[in-house]
Amino acid sequence: MVSISLRSISKSYTPLAKVLHDISFEIREGEFLVIVGPSGCGKSTLLRMIAGLENITSGELFFDDKKMNDVLPKDRDVGMVFQNYALYPHLTVSENISFPLTLRKVEKAIVKKRVAEVSLMLQLEELLQRKPKELSGGQRQRVALGRAIARSPKCFLFDEPLSNLDAQLRNQMRSEILSLQKKVGATSIYVTHDQTEAMTMGDRIAVLNNGILQQVGTPKEVYHNPVNMFVSGFVGTPSINKIWGSVDNGRFISSGKEINISLKGFINEDAVICAFRPEDIIIDKDSALQAEIQSFEYIGHETLLYLRIGSESITVRTTDTDTYRRREKIGIKISPEKVLLFDKNENNVSHKSV
Ligand code: ADP
Ligand code: MG
Repeated sequence: MVSISLRSISKSYTPLAKVLHDISFEIREGEFLVIVGPSGCGKSTLLRMIAGLENITSGELFFDDKKMNDVLPKDRDVGMVFQNYALYPHLTVSENISFPLTLRKVEKAIVKKRVAEVSLMLQLEELLQRKPKELSGGQRQRVALGRAIARSPKCFLFDEPLSNLDAQLRNQMRSEILSLQKKVGATSIYVTHDQTEAMTMGDRIAVLNNGILQQVGTPKEVYHNPVNMFVSGFVGTPSINKIWGSVDNGRFISSGKEINISLKGFINEDAVICAFRPEDIIIDKDSALQAEIQSFEYIGHETLLYLRIGSESITVRTTDTDTYRRREKIGIKISPEKVLLFDKNENNVSHKSV
C-alpha cells in the first residue's frame, strides 16, 4: 500500500492552454478515492500523470515520501484499468492476465499460481483458454481487472472502467471492484463522469471542473456541504433546486416576493442563491407557500413533482402515495436547516456541519 500526494500539479499540452490548474490533494494508504467531473475536465490527464503515461508540466507527485515525477511508468508499481479494456486480442484470457508477469520474467511456476489465484478471485477459471472476442463485455472487463491485479501492485488506477457496460452489469461490477479492492487493500484512484458511481463507490470524492479542483470530501460532505454551486448541482439526481434572490431581515426574497424560508443568522446580501434538495421539501397543504404542479413522474417508490413558484421552477421528491393533478396548487415547506445559501460568487456561505 502507498499514499499518493499531488502537490500543485498543472498540465499544459500546448504552451497557451492549461488543462489542469494547481491540483493538490492526498490519497491515503488503502483508500478508494474517486475523481469525478464532466467530460473534458481533465480526469484522464490527471490519472495518466499519476501512472507516468503523461509528463507533469509543473508541480510534484509523491508516492509515500518518494518523488515520482521522473520515474518510468513500469517502475511505479501501478495497475491500470481502462474503459476500452485494452486486452491483447491474439492472447488467451490466461495469457492476458499473466502478461505483466511474463514481461518481468517472473518464474513460470509462480505465474501459473498467480493466474490461478486471480482467476478464482474474478470467476474466470472456466474462461482461461478463450480469446477476448469470445467474451462478453463484463467478462472482458474482469480480465482487464485480473491483469491489473496479477502483479499485486501498490496502487490501482481506474479510468471509467465501467462506461461500456449496461446498467445492471455496471452495478454488479461496482460492488465487485469494491470488494476486490478491500480484499487486496491497494490504494485506488477511480475516474468517472458519473456522480452516482462516485457517490456509491468513493471513500472520498475529488470533484474536478474545467481543470480546477473544486472539493475533496466524503460523499456525505460533498452532498450536504458542497463548497460551491457547481458541486451542489453536480451531485444528486434530480439536481438541487436553486432560486435566485436576496436575504432581507432573515427572510428570503425572490422575484419581488417573500419565499417562506427563514434564514436567520444570515446578513443582508444583494444577491444570493438559495438551494435545497428535492427530498428536503415537505408537502403541507396548510403552508402559506403555494406552488403549482407543472407535471409529475410516478416512479414506484417515489413521485417527482415539477412545481412552479412565481417564475421559479423546482423539483420535489416525495414518497407519499397521493394522487396529483397538473395545474393543481399545493402547499410546500422547505426545512430551513437543509437550505444552502450561495453568495454572488457562487460560494457556499451556509457552513453546515455534516
Ligand atoms: P476527461 O478525462 O475529464 O474527459 P481529459 O483529461 O481527457 O478529460 O482531457 C482534458 C482536456 O485536455 C480536454 O480539453 C482535452 O481535449 C485535452 N487533451 C487531452 N489529451 C490531449 C492531448 N494528448 N493533446 C492535447 N490536448 C489533450
Ligand atoms: Mg477521460
